[in-house]
Amino acid sequence: MKVLVTDKISEKSIQILKEEVIVETNYNLTPEELAQKIKDFDALIVRSGTQVTKEVIGAADNLKVIGRAGVGVDNIDIHAATQKGIIVLNAPEGNTIAAAEHTIAMMLSLSRNIPSASNSVKRNEWERKKFMGVEIKDKVIGIIGFGRIGREVAKRVRAFGMRVLVYDPYLSRETARSKGVELVDFEILLKTSDFITLHVPLTDKTRNMIDREEFAIMKPGIRIINCARGGIINEEALYEAIKQGIVAGAALDVFEIEPPTKDNRLLTLDNVIATPHLGASTREAQENVSLDVVKDVLRALKGEQVKNPINMPTIKDEDYEKIKPYMVLAEKMGKFYVQFKNGRINEIEMIYNGEISRFETKIITISALKGILSVFLQESINIVNAPVIAKERGIRIKETKSPEIENYNNLVTLKVKTDKTTGSVSGTIFAKNDPRIVKIDDFYIDLVPEGYVLLTSHRDQPGVVGRVGTILGENDINIATMQVGRKYPRGEAIMALTVDEIVSKDIIKQLEQVKGINKMHLVIF
Ligand code: NAD
Repeated sequence: MKVLVTDKISEKSIQILKEEVIVETNYNLTPEELAQKIKDFDALIVRSGTQVTKEVIGAADNLKVIGRAGVGVDNIDIHAATQKGIIVLNAPEGNTIAAAEHTIAMMLSLSRNIPSASNSVKRNEWERKKFMGVEIKDKVIGIIGFGRIGREVAKRVRAFGMRVLVYDPYLSRETARSKGVELVDFEILLKTSDFITLHVPLTDKTRNMIDREEFAIMKPGIRIINCARGGIINEEALYEAIKQGIVAGAALDVFEIEPPTKDNRLLTLDNVIATPHLGASTREAQENVSLDVVKDVLRALKGEQVKNPINMPTIKDEDYEKIKPYMVLAEKMGKFYVQFKNGRINEIEMIYNGEISRFETKIITISALKGILSVFLQESINIVNAPVIAKERGIRIKETKSPEIENYNNLVTLKVKTDKTTGSVSGTIFAKNDPRIVKIDDFYIDLVPEGYVLLTSHRDQPGVVGRVGTILGENDINIATMQVGRKYPRGEAIMALTVDEIVSKDIIKQLEQVKGINKMHLVIF
């Protein structure tokens, strides 16, 4: 495997890569140069400097994964990567502590006027009255966005004796309670807080979420900190709110335009503290993001579950052992189904019964889809691009879950609606890791989904099994296992034979001549 690193990452992380793969470092490539180079590589590691354009991805014939050492992935064409089945991953955790600590530093600097006071002393002034501060103990801090960084900030400010309010519409009350914070409405947070700190991503919803209307209802004397993204606070509105005395101070690590332009009026105010996007700039954070991304890229190259994918569903580490065998099973079920049923697929439904229904099953469903699509498409289909390709082809995907069980502790059923029929195949995992297909439409069976399988639909009558055995024997095809499923004696039946050799079309035709057999399919796993 070959990995290309096009922005600087830590030396230690390069060494870790080198223990397992061939590494080439090549910085400052233009997109054109990168497009030329990329086709030999299995993985690409970047920071924000490299532009991974559609053209680069178009030329990346061997690329399996793009790793971003850091968070933002605006420099990577995720859509093009997804369509090509390339995993894009980032390293969002490595700088959490750095950003949280910077937020605390900003808050304390604001409350005690440290930057201005320091500058004043350096000008040989001794202005003790001018820089009278406020304590943070017993003050109310409103944290907007309670993700990784918001939570770390909360832990630290609680230690200072602050009361913590949180606004995050995607957070449950139980989670908030367990972290010792009060989940409140946006308006209450704005009206009640002495300090506000922002920890949301910049999205259409969060752009200008702190604007004139919001400043208008804030407690006069509020201090505000933005170590998240520029654009979440409207800078003009903030300037006005400071001038009007609503806001006593603002600490900004991020700006609408970075670096801020000379005419940014906020920079003229003494009670504005500004740092040049330093939130993640600690030695530890830089090392962490490099190590995190390298480890995740190596996982992707080995086909293991990656920790921080951008364009595929995630599984929690602790669920991986349970889910992985079902992913394998589902893929085999999908592959199996489309090799013996005809028709244009309109919808697939995955039905989960038993304990497995309690897990995040999306990746299992996508595995079934991958199995289905890989039978009739030339493109390389994987967990990343299967949902996109299914959507392009108008295949609807559904999931149904129920903890109820019938014959098996865990049963996964793939139901497929085509323009001709609706059919299903069900499977389970025996022991810990042993996939079985246990039902095809209404027929119970016990099939190990491996190698070559001959599947009949026939009438249950004496002689069929014997004749099939004889024909295969005459053609030197060795039968490994045989399973018959029937609804009732001498009724409709199916037979699944696993065989050691591939069976030619001619032999299948001979088998279809056997009295009682309607149809014979060869399924290859
Ligand atoms: P995260 O994804 O872990 O958390 C974001 C939280 O925001 C989530 O809990 C989400 O539910 C919440 N959220 C989303 N939309 C919201 C809305 N409209 N209102 C309220 N809450 C909302 O992210 P994180 O790792 O904690 O990072 C937070 C921010 O910090 C991001 O913008 C990130 O880019 C930025 N960041 C900046 C620096 C820096 O150098 N200054 C460093 C790291 C991260």
